[in-house]
Amino acid sequence: MYNVMSPKAEEFINHEEILESLAYAKSNKNNRELIDEILAKARLRKGLSHREAAVLLDCELEDKNQEIYALAQQIKKDFYGNRIVMFAPLYLSNYCVNGCEYCPYHAKNKHIARKKLTQEEVAKEVAALQDMGHKRLALEAGEDPVNNPIEYILECIHTIYGIKHKNGAIRRVNVNIAATTVENYQKLKEAGIGTYILFQETYHKESYEKLHPTGPKHDYAYHTEAMDRAMEGGIDDVGLGVLFGLNNYRYDFTGILMHAEHLEQYKGVGPHTISVPRLRRADDIDPDVFDNGISDEVFAKIVACIRIAVPYTGMIVSTRESQACREKVLHLGISQISGASRTSVGGYVEPEPEEENSAQFDVSDNRTLDEVVRWLMEMDYVPSFCTACYREGRTGDRFMTLLKSGQIVNCCHPNALMTLKEYLEDYASEETKAIGDALIEKELDVITNPKVKEKVMDYLANIQNGQRDFRF
Ligand code: SAM
Repeated sequence: MYNVMSPKAEEFINHEEILESLAYAKSNKNNRELIDEILAKARLRKGLSHREAAVLLDCELEDKNQEIYALAQQIKKDFYGNRIVMFAPLYLSNYCVNGCEYCPYHAKNKHIARKKLTQEEVAKEVAALQDMGHKRLALEAGEDPVNNPIEYILECIHTIYGIKHKNGAIRRVNVNIAATTVENYQKLKEAGIGTYILFQETYHKESYEKLHPTGPKHDYAYHTEAMDRAMEGGIDDVGLGVLFGLNNYRYDFTGILMHAEHLEQYKGVGPHTISVPRLRRADDIDPDVFDNGISDEVFAKIVACIRIAVPYTGMIVSTRESQACREKVLHLGISQISGASRTSVGGYVEPEPEEENSAQFDVSDNRTLDEVVRWLMEMDYVPSFCTACYREGRTGDRFMTLLKSGQIVNCCHPNALMTLKEYLEDYASEETKAIGDALIEKELDVITNPKVKEKVMDYLANIQNGQRDFRF
């Protein structure tokens, strides 16, 4: 149905078009009439083109900016309600052959501790993550065909899904590994992964090549076309992202929207998620050396404008951001956050001694998962440990159809409440449990279908008797 001969990277991320869009945005940043028109279109909740979104990002009219923030909040509520999906990264190996200038895993870094988990160590890390209450992971690894070949990643996925520890289980494994071949994406699909995540870092080809001077990641086209290959390999949930701080943020904001448009147009389904990582201090990396850092205000504006431009896409913010910053962007469009993350290899079982640092970057939000869950609930968010969609075959356009149908209140919301209750029962502190039980009681009213509500109430009552993992 969709054109298999999809355009090449430099066509769908068209440099000239990005520059023209930025010039257009700049010359219209105070054009009240045009901004009103774009906002009127955005209110239809069908998204915006990259050029329209670029105008909103640049908008300098204070009252219009307030409208942008209010609309982003409303769209977030309409599509994602007050649920926030929880996950944690799991670093498998920091061996890497690439030369990424911003990442301490770069091959020339001789003093970072190089580590690769054995299957026994993977099992221990997973048990530690399950003991916190996590059900969803994002696997992370450097690119190294000798130390971390695809077989190693597949073996780890197999190990992870196989570990059932007390009432715990990892029910969804997302994977963030280097761009690879269609065959390898097929293997990942067969291994049962959820989303394949790959950050573009920057869409600006020249900067990209400078930032990745050596190693396979140097190849801009191979990296940029990775999602096309992933989809060809059968993975229909893909996650985009750029690393803000590396390049002009306006350029990368426009680029990521063009990438989303490309996937929608040529693969029939847009990105499942968009991540918004910002560059952080790390072992031998000083973020101040890069001169494209963005303020918290600009960061918030980016989140709001992505939310408006691609209303159906999940948005992820990690523990790279502080509690205060996460709080701000949660309201503006974020639907998934990590909690209690360790960015070192093996860091969940044992904190590393300083002289043995293997971490990818310093995290800003160091709270425990219990603290993050309680904090969310105190703001009336429902932390969700749901992993049902992909396990029920609702991936790609089937997930998008559900989202657009408005039936989320009778599907995602019940699943969120049931998995939250599992968390409260098995892992939460007394204080968190009390807040959570009261929240669940209140949130049951959001479910509109009486039969669904009855089933949920029945399940909630049975959790105390040991029942687990019922889902819609
Ligand atoms: N090796 C894979 C690749 O090349 O895409 C996996 C990615 S890596 C484990 C995950 C992401 O961390 C990278 O894509 C990059 O955006 C981000 N990252 C690297 N260095 C960082 C830093 N100093 N601060 C924040 N994020 C960083």
